[in-house]
Amino acid sequence: VPFFTVIKKSKKSRARLGILHLTHGKVETPAFVPVATQAVVKTLAAEEARKSGAQLLIANTYHLHLKPGEKFVKKRGGLHRFMAWDRPLMTDSGGFQVFSLGFGRDHGVGKILSKKVGERVRQGAQPQKIQITGRGVWFRSIVDGKKLFIGPKESMRIQSDLGADIIFAFDECTSPVADKEYTKNSLVRSHQWAQESLRYRNKKQKIYGIVQGGKYQDLRKESAQFISGLAFDGYGIGGEFGDNKSEMTTMINWVVDELPNEKPRHLLGIGHPEDIESIIRSGIDTFDCIAPTHYARRGIAFTSRGRLSLSKKSFLTDAKPIDTSCKCTVCKTYTRAYICHLMRASEITALSLITMHNLFYFNSYVALVRQKIKKGAL
Ligand SMILES: [Zn+2]
Repeated sequence: VPFFTVIKKSKKSRARLGILHLTHGKVETPAFVPVATQAVVKTLAAEEARKSGAQLLIANTYHLHLKPGEKFVKKRGGLHRFMAWDRPLMTDSGGFQVFSLGFGRDHGVGKILSKKVGERVRQGAQPQKIQITGRGVWFRSIVDGKKLFIGPKESMRIQSDLGADIIFAFDECTSPVADKEYTKNSLVRSHQWAQESLRYRNKKQKIYGIVQGGKYQDLRKESAQFISGLAFDGYGIGGEFGDNKSEMTTMINWVVDELPNEKPRHLLGIGHPEDIESIIRSGIDTFDCIAPTHYARRGIAFTSRGRLSLSKKSFLTDAKPIDTSCKCTVCKTYTRAYICHLMRASEITALSLITMHNLFYFNSYVALVRQKIKKGAL
């Protein structure tokens, strides 16, 4: 069985229906990938994550390396057995932390640049918290302050010990405030690390190469061409996505145009409900995003009618479910009034209930998009 099969290609857009065939089962694509940073979908038991319709989770190499350590996980049968998750798993490469601990933290910016930053990161600059060399990155552990090093070789060894079905090549995720010269040099480094990742990876795992290049069209295309020329099983699209969300799809399209059709594409760290259709229309097969779990822990539910902030007092007298058109067990069982009460009483059950609903909402939303592609409507 091939690793990835495209079942249907849309005539209206770059969207496609496919199946990933992995050691731990099949994944119908396009698929949303919930985030399990520390080997858990925050607030949920594994069976609750399964019930939410999650087909594939992504765990965090950097955090698991620091705590409890990949050897610890390996001794306990690998990540699947350790976290009692029998469906497919991905691990990221740890490279994103190069970014978020470095320039991203220095400038307080994320993946989409929402505020104007006065200064640009110039060629030769070094972020304050980390040191980037040709071989990898030195950084201090957020657990005990110890000085640690991760490069492509280390990342591949850690990801092999963790044992996910899909792993990512080690790369530098450039900051949205990096200038072109910096981004270009960073790309050379990331491409070298991509080749080293292929050399050191565990061949039992599927590996995705990551396309970088910031917001520069020529660099994005150059990166996509370079990475697709290597023997990767699929591709990740990483880094920043412009100054606003309308630029995001343009930038994804630059990259997708250069990637081969027969291999899967994963968009790293993006996927709010309002972005999902356009991401899928651009030809993305899987994407991960912290939104459903992150917002749930702040009392915010995603619904077919927009977001609800369930700790608001007005919900105390609301006998409706979170979303009247949702078929999840939370919506079948509990009222907004009850969940609002739990939020206001600081009861942690509220956070699990909203997380369960949010994940179900995201997964069924994407299932609906799959139906639309099937019917030729998207
Ligand atoms: Zn629900």
